[in-house]
Amino acid sequence: MRFSNVFCIGRNYANHAAELGNELPSMPMVFSKPTHSLVRADGKVITYPANMGDIHHELEIVLYIGKHVSEKFQVDDVVTKMALGVDLTLRDVQTDLKKKGHPWLLAKGFKNAAVVTDFWDFPGTAACADEIFSLERGGKVIQKGNIQSMIFNFHEVIDYIQKNFGLNEGDIIYTGTPEGVGPIADGEKYELKWGEKVKGSFVVKQR
Ligand code: ZN
Repeated sequence: MRFSNVFCIGRNYANHAAELGNELPSMPMVFSKPTHSLVRADGKVITYPANMGDIHHELEIVLYIGKHVSEKFQVDDVVTKMALGVDLTLRDVQTDLKKKGHPWLLAKGFKNAAVVTDFWDFPGTAACADEIFSLERGGKVIQKGNIQSMIFNFHEVIDYIQKNFGLNEGDIIYTGTPEGVGPIADGEKYELKWGEKVKGSFVVKQR
């Protein structure tokens, strides 16, 4: 699969916004990552910088847009596939950038900052609402979520991106992380799960 644009939604779960001391957004908070930040969670070792402060894991549902999105779209028509992803964030760098009023790109768009599993056929919004997604580290659940806790639902997120940036076949959207974000460390193994199914995994190497 080839991807065009990588859009991401910040602060889309209230408990996550609260854990970082952020206010709830009144409209979707959108940023993007370069496609070079994408890396497959296929069990491999992935390298991250060791000297740029904390790197936080953010587990997210990733939607694949398989059709041009027009004004009157249905989510279940335009989203054809989905995956799980981890939006890696250089948290200390981000805090510094925020203070200076600078863009987040360095904190969010670095190499390997967008981990993603293989995509599978989108089961529909209703089916997603019935499923828990989770991130395990060394066999222990550290993040779990359900789309019913989203501040902006799939339709609102897609509508906002379509209106402001355009959305077309090949674009993907990281839809925001539930609470439980925290730092990664060298040697740790992460598994991304949809219900009971492991959809992808990776091992962290820092240097
Ligand atoms: Zn995120």
